[in-house]
Amino acid sequence: MEHVSDKALILGKSREAWLKAYPLLGDIMATKPVNWLNPGLQGAEDTLKTLPIHREEILEASKRLERFAAYLAQVFPALQETQGIIESPIRPVVKMQQRLDQQTGIALKGSLVLKLDSHLPVSGSIKARGGIYEVLVHGETLALEDGRLHLEDDYRLLDAPEVRRFFGKHRIEVGSTGNLGLSIGIMGAAMGFQVTVHMSQDARQWKKDLLREKGVEVKEYATDYSLAVAAGRKASEDDPASYFVDDENSKSLFLGYAVAALRLQRQLKASGIEVNREHPLFAYLPCGVGGGPGGVAFGLKQVYGDNVHCFFAEPTHSPAVLLGLMTGEMEEVSAQDFGVDNVTAADGLAVGRPSGLVCRMMKPLLAGVYTVEDEQLFRLLAQLDETENLQLEPSALAGMPGPYRLMQEENMIQWLEEQGLTQYMNNATHLVWATGGSMVPEKEMDAYILRGRELL
Ligand SMILES: *Cc1c(COP(=O)(O)O)cnc(C)c1O
Repeated sequence: MEHVSDKALILGKSREAWLKAYPLLGDIMATKPVNWLNPGLQGAEDTLKTLPIHREEILEASKRLERFAAYLAQVFPALQETQGIIESPIRPVVKMQQRLDQQTGIALKGSLVLKLDSHLPVSGSIKARGGIYEVLVHGETLALEDGRLHLEDDYRLLDAPEVRRFFGKHRIEVGSTGNLGLSIGIMGAAMGFQVTVHMSQDARQWKKDLLREKGVEVKEYATDYSLAVAAGRKASEDDPASYFVDDENSKSLFLGYAVAALRLQRQLKASGIEVNREHPLFAYLPCGVGGGPGGVAFGLKQVYGDNVHCFFAEPTHSPAVLLGLMTGEMEEVSAQDFGVDNVTAADGLAVGRPSGLVCRMMKPLLAGVYTVEDEQLFRLLAQLDETENLQLEPSALAGMPGPYRLMQEENMIQWLEEQGLTQYMNNATHLVWATGGSMVPEKEMDAYILRGRELL
C-alpha cells in the first residue's frame, strides 16, 4: 500500500485537517470497511426537478431501445426469445438469505432479491445496458445524418452490407477495466464499426482474447482505469472519424443504465412485490466509476421517489465515489490522493477517481456508500454458488453485504430510525444488483469459487 507522508498536503489541506473534517477518512485510508450515510440526501420530488437529466430522457432511451429491438433480435440470436429486448430476471434468494442469517446471527428483516444483470444476454454484465445503448445511439445518429435511416424505418436495414460498410468507416473507442470494453466491442463489431478498447491493467485476459476474436483492437496499459480512459480519449481526439465513449462523463451511458428502473418496476409488479411507504425498497449497487449504479439509482428514484433507498458498494481499496461525495470534491479527488492504492480483485470496480457527472447527480439522491473487503466478496461468491447455484464475478457480490450492514451497524440502524423506516423493515425488499459473471470462463469461475471456499 502507498503511504501519504504526514506532511504532504492532500488537495491543499493537511492530513489532520482532512481527518478533522471527515473522521471516517481514518478508516478509509486504512482500507477498513466503512459505512457512510449521505448528509446531502434530499426529498426526491423537489430534487429531481433541479437535476440536469430528466425523466423524459429515460423514456426516450427506452423508446430508442424499442426501435432497435427487431434489429438486435436479428444480429443476436440470444435475443430472439425476448424480441430484441436485453433484460435480466429478478430472483428471490431464500437459501442465501438463510445462510447469511445463520452466519451473521442476524435475521434479516424483509426479503433478499437478486437482480441478475450477471445474466444479461449479449455481454453478461450491467454494461450490456449502458454500453450497448451508447453504441446504438451513435449508430442511429450517424445513419440518420447520412439519410440512410428514418425513425419510422424497420431498423433491420442497418444490418445490410452497404450500411455495415458505412459504419466500417467509423471508429469507436473506449477505456475500460474489461466489461465496458466487452459491451462496446461486441455491439460495435456487430454493427460493423471499427472498435478500439483501451484496457487498464486490471482487465482479465479472457476479455481481451474474446474481443480480439471479434476483430476488436485491444490496447493494453500498465496503468489503472483512469489513465486508460485518458489515453483512449486522447487517441480518439486525434482521429476525426473516431467517437469516444466517455465512461467518466457520458449521458448516453447513464440513460442506458437508467432504463433498467422502468423495466424493474414491471418485474416487481408482476412478482407481486409492492413498493410504497410501508414497503420500502433498498437497492445495493456495486460501484466503479459510478455510471452503472448511478444511472440505475437515478431511474429508481424517478420511479419510486422516496420509497427507494439506494446504496453504492465499493471495494475498500477503491473508494472513488465515496471520496468524491464525502469530501464534496467530486472528480477532483482520487483514492490515490489519500494513499489508497486502487488494487482489488473486483476488476469491474477498480476505479480510483469517480465520475463528476455521477457524483453531482447522486449527491441529493443517494442514501449512502459502504466499502467491502475483497475477501468478503470471494466468500459471498462461494456461498451464493453453494446455496443458489448462481455464479457471479467478484465485483458483482459487493451489493450482498448491504442488507446486513443496515441491520448490524450502529449508524445505519440509527439512520433507519431517523428516516422512519424501522417499523416497516419486515416488509422491505433488499434488491442486490448482481452486476456480472455469466461470461466468465468456467476455469476462472472455478478458481474464484475455490478461493472463496478457502476463506470460509
Ligand atoms: C462496471 C461494473 C460495475 C460498476 O459500474 P460503474 O459504471 O463502473 O460504476 C459493477 N459491476 C461490474 C461487474 C462491472 O463490470
